[in-house]
Order: sequence, then structure tokens, then C-alpha cells
Amino acid sequence: MTAPALGPAFELPEQLTALRAKVRTFVDERVIPNEAKILAEDHAPDAQGRSVAPRSATLRALRDEAKAAGLFTPHLPEALGGLGLGVMGMCALFREMGRSPVGAAAFNCDAPDQGNMDVLLRVATEEQRERWLGPLARGEITSGFAMTEPAPGAGADPSNLRTRAVRDGDDWVIDGHKWYTTGGGDASFLIVMARTSDDPRAGATMFLVDRMHKGISHVRDIPVMCPPILTHREAEMRFEGVRVPASAVLGGVGEGFRLAQTRLVPARLTHCMRWLGLAERTLQMCREYVVTRESFGRTLAHHQAIQKMIAEASTGIHAGNLMTLHCASMLERGLAKEARPYSSMAKNHVARLLCKTLDDAIQMHGSLGFSDDMPFALWYRYARSARIADGPDEVHDVVVARDFLRGTLDVLV
Ligand SMILES: Cc1cc2nc3c(=O)[nH]c(=O)nc-3n(C[C@H](O)[C@H](O)[C@H](O)COP(=O)(O)OP(=O)(O)OC[C@H]3O[C@@H](n4cnc5c(N)ncnc54)[C@H](O)[C@@H]3O)c2cc1C
Repeated sequence: MTAPALGPAFELPEQLTALRAKVRTFVDERVIPNEAKILAEDHAPDAQGRSVAPRSATLRALRDEAKAAGLFTPHLPEALGGLGLGVMGMCALFREMGRSPVGAAAFNCDAPDQGNMDVLLRVATEEQRERWLGPLARGEITSGFAMTEPAPGAGADPSNLRTRAVRDGDDWVIDGHKWYTTGGGDASFLIVMARTSDDPRAGATMFLVDRMHKGISHVRDIPVMCPPILTHREAEMRFEGVRVPASAVLGGVGEGFRLAQTRLVPARLTHCMRWLGLAERTLQMCREYVVTRESFGRTLAHHQAIQKMIAEASTGIHAGNLMTLHCASMLERGLAKEARPYSSMAKNHVARLLCKTLDDAIQMHGSLGFSDDMPFALWYRYARSARIADGPDEVHDVVVARDFLRGTLDVLV
């Protein structure tokens, strides 16, 4: 598929519109009706412990259906079984998938695997691609991205990186302590960020490491605000004398910080796409309720306070879509560096929008909204991490303000 471009009226190319409709139908007819079953199977007691992800048999069957329908890993090039969508195409499709918290996984487009596929595609050697990218693209294995460490290590400020990799002959030996490696427990391999020198810019390197390698222990899945959803289990990992060959280096020694940015900008944008989908579904569910539920002699939809919440969410989703599409178009034009502050704006806007829309959905549904008879409480707990993961709000605001104050941010595009 050629890179889709937006026309003057922001319309999508015909081919992409058709594909998007196919994905939407699949989500409506196959994913959403099975959502509760997939989540229950994912939590089933006999599925605990390390296992082949995804744990849910229903989800695995849906992935086979998505493959048969030609909708699996659409973001990858055709040679790897995808559709070569490009970032603009991903915006259209990922939003549809994101309408369910298990939707992206049905198409092998969930985080962190999708972002990891992206970085492997850019910089992995032929051997690394064959060993890890192929099976990941086929949905046979899952992966983790291990950058964050407990204090005083790498967090909002990656330069606090403490995990070290030391050269020993032809090998590297990694020692360190990571946490919040999403999906790390079930993963077949990890991309591990380690310090290889004290150079502030070129002091970090990424390594591709077999998760079962000697010296790696999965300490626990950290109990967090949200119950685990598929690979969204936050692993704490220890690396003790993990000896890997030089061929485990991903993209070059000292390239870690640069590659992290290369991975994070598009990965952040794909988060926005999925979150916009969930916000849209939430708003549709609110409409169904407020046009039927009556209070004080009229439906909720007739009360201005309700209209205000609906209008704010609709406007916020529309703005989020435009911000995401704009940033995606920059990435497609090869303007990765210039896109960075725009990706920060989009990420902050969409993360807050999703949290606010879910909070308002609970409010509009009253006691029903607070109950687990509706999914909003679960989705809210899931969404709240959006304001922290991939960099907290404040750090993205720093990027936007810094570029604006330097005069390098063209805000009137
Ligand atoms: C659900 C979830 C999944 C995650 N998945 C992964 C993963 O797969 N791999 C991975 O490596 N990491 C992952 N993370 C970690 C995430 O990237 C970090 O949490 C994030 O970068 C912030 O780091 P920190 O938590 O150490 O916060 P800290 O660095 O301790 O910062 C704490 C708070 O300080 C404030 N702050 C920090 N810097 C500034 C500043 N410059 N100005 C003003 N305020 C500031 C912010 O409010 C911030 O929230 C995940 C996190 C979550 C919550």
C-alpha cells in the first residue's frame, strides 16, 4: 500500500477507508462481544505463571481470524506479513482497534510489542530480525522494553540510568535492576537499556536479550492501580552477570538514548491512536445512556451540564485526532526531530482527555457508572497510567515549552 495522504478535506484514501471499516466491523462483531471472556481467561488461575502470551485461548483464536482476514500486524511491511501502512494509516486503524482494551492485541498491534517491532525494523541486523522480529511479527512470542528503574535509577530522567553493561572480551556483562517492564514476565526477549560509558549523550546502549537467559530473574509483577490486562503486567526484573555476545547490541554501542527517542516518538503516537478509540467508545456509550435515562422530567441529554461534558469530550477527541494526524504526517515526511514537541503535545492532550472523558462517563452514569456493571471504572484505572508512562505530563510540557521559548516551535502550522 502506498503511503496514505490526507486530502484537502482530511479525507482518507479510499483503500484505507475500506480497511478501516473492516477493522471496525471486526472489533464490533468479534472483539467487543468476546471482551469479558478474554479478560476472564487472561486472569484464570490455571493460566498464572509464565506462559505463552497471550494467555487467553479466545484471543489466540481471534488472532487467527484476524490473520485469515489479512488484518494482522498491518503496520509492518508486506515482507513481514503486514500491509505497509505507514504512520497515517496506523492512525486510522489503531483508533478502531483501541475501542477495546483487548482490540490492539487481536491484531498484534499492542504496546510494547508494536513499538519494539518498529525499532527492530529500523536497526536490527539480519540475524536479530530472523531470531526476534519474525516470531514477534507472526504473533508467536511477546517482548518487553526495559528502560525504567526504581529510584535512584532511570525514570522521567533517563540519564539516571544505573544498569551497566561492561565489556569482557567479545561479550558484554549486564547488571542492573529494572521495573515497569510491561509484559516482561511473559516475554520471550527484552530490549534492555544499559549504561556502557559515562558520556551524557552516548553513554547508553540497547541489548536484545533472551528473557530466559542465565542471570535474569522476574522478581514479580508489581501490583498496580489497574488489574493486569493481557501483556499490561508491570514486571520487576533483576539482571545479575548476564553475559551476552556483541551481536546482542541493538543499533550500535552508545546509540541507546538516541534510539529510545526514535522508538518513543512513534510509540507515543500509537498510544494516542488507541486511547482516542477508547475515548470515542466511551462517549458513544454515554450518548446511549443520556438519551434514554430521565431525571426531573426530561432525559439527561436535555440538561445543559450534561451537554457541556458531551461537548468537551467531543471537542477533545476531535482535537486529539487532528494533533495525532498532524504529528503522524510529519513522521511520514521524515521530520522525526521536528515532530517531537508535537508528539509531546498530542500525548499529553490525549492522555488527559481519556482520563477526563472516563471520569465524566462515570459521572453521567451515576451509580451505574461507579459499578463494575459498566467498564468505565476498569478503563479509568487502565487509562490513568497514560499520564505517567512514556514520560509524565510534566516532562512533555518541558519539551513543548523549551522548544517554544527557543523559537523552534512553529505553533501556527
Ligand atoms: C503502566 C506503566 C507502564 C510502563 N511501561 C514501561 C515499559 O514497558 N518500559 C519501561 O522502561 N518503562 C515503563 N514505564 C515507566 C515509565 O516510562 C516511567 O514511569 C516514567 O518515565 C516516569 O518515570 P518514574 O516513574 O521513575 O517517575 P520519576 O522520575 O520518579 O518522576 C516522578 C514524578 O516527578 C515529576 N517530574 C519528573 N520530572 C519532572 C520535571 N522535569 N518537571 C516537573 N516534574 C517532573 C512528574 O510528576 C513525575 O510523575 C511504565 C510506567 C507505567 C505507569
